[in-house]
Amino acid sequence: MIVVCGAGGFIGGHLVAALRARGGATIRAVDIKPLDAWFQQFDDVENMTLDLREADACRRACDGAAQVFNLACDMGGMGFIENNKAACMVSVLINTQLLIAARDALVPRYFFASSACVYPQAKQSTADVVALCESDAYPADPEDGYGWEKLFSERMCRHFHEDHGIGVTMARLHNVYGPHGTWRGGREKAPAALCRKVIEAVHGETDSIEIWGDGSQTRSFLWIDDCIERLFRIVDADVAEPVNLGSDEQVSVNELADLAMDIAGQRFARHHIADAPLGVAGRNSDNTLLRARTGGWEPSTSLRDGLARTYAWIEQEYLACRT
Ligand code: NAD
Repeated sequence: MIVVCGAGGFIGGHLVAALRARGGATIRAVDIKPLDAWFQQFDDVENMTLDLREADACRRACDGAAQVFNLACDMGGMGFIENNKAACMVSVLINTQLLIAARDALVPRYFFASSACVYPQAKQSTADVVALCESDAYPADPEDGYGWEKLFSERMCRHFHEDHGIGVTMARLHNVYGPHGTWRGGREKAPAALCRKVIEAVHGETDSIEIWGDGSQTRSFLWIDDCIERLFRIVDADVAEPVNLGSDEQVSVNELADLAMDIAGQRFARHHIADAPLGVAGRNSDNTLLRARTGGWEPSTSLRDGLARTYAWIEQEYLACRT
């Protein structure tokens, strides 16, 4: 039995789809949301609606599991995590209760989805930043709230491995994007948000695109299928330490907006919001350790191609909501 926690969300939904395609194992999909609110639902897996902050819910989730993937988290883009630090930190209950339940149920393998937000702010203070490698995480000064929760939960995983022998793997994800994820409502991340804003302009709702800050802040963005493929490799290789999982194609938010407008085939004026939540000035992923541990790697999908597919899905959702 393979258990995916957070299966109603973006990455969890794609992970369940990929596990089904792999075949050979029964799958349990768990999320706090009612099933009809999940991004992807599959009738041929065991679907459970559970609040994984609760010990009993985690016991039910872990019962009979050979592998638990923990992708459950109360999270969102910068707009959410900068304004909901307490809620982000409460997700520590999910990972803690899941680890305790996994230990008690003798679950041999456990994956934790960590984040690039564990890295110190001082190493990300310019747009033209040096890519972050795993050892940069200490001395610690992560993103307040969300980043501290991830860093603490990484250590919790490490100690459950050391003290209880659970085979733990962890990936520090850097901005994963693609279809079947949040694209409106305040939790969306930059790629989905910019696609939606361009789509709204294309369909006449606005005549300009809102950009948070001056748009010079940089990030890298990883296509969801590349994320899932490498996530499996990290788990299959039993990579013992937290490892980056991100693209190293660094772009600015302005360049991302240009790409979305290229895909639309139209140009719109930009309206910069100076006091919006921005996060760090620059961030990129150093994938040296990932390549060493998982047999070399380059993401297969360019940002232009992946964003075009994301844009097409969001436009379809947008039009469905308007009818
Ligand atoms: P998401 O918000 O789409 O999915 C998370 C899911 O967890 C949601 O469906 C939510 O309902 C569920 N959840 C929240 N609280 C829960 C609870 N108490 N019990 C059960 N389920 C609960 O997010 P995502 O983008 O799919 O991210 C998955 C994981 O990867 C998260 O841990 C996130 O922090 C991490 N991550 C994602 C990114 C990214 O770019 N998407 C980057 C870094 C880290």
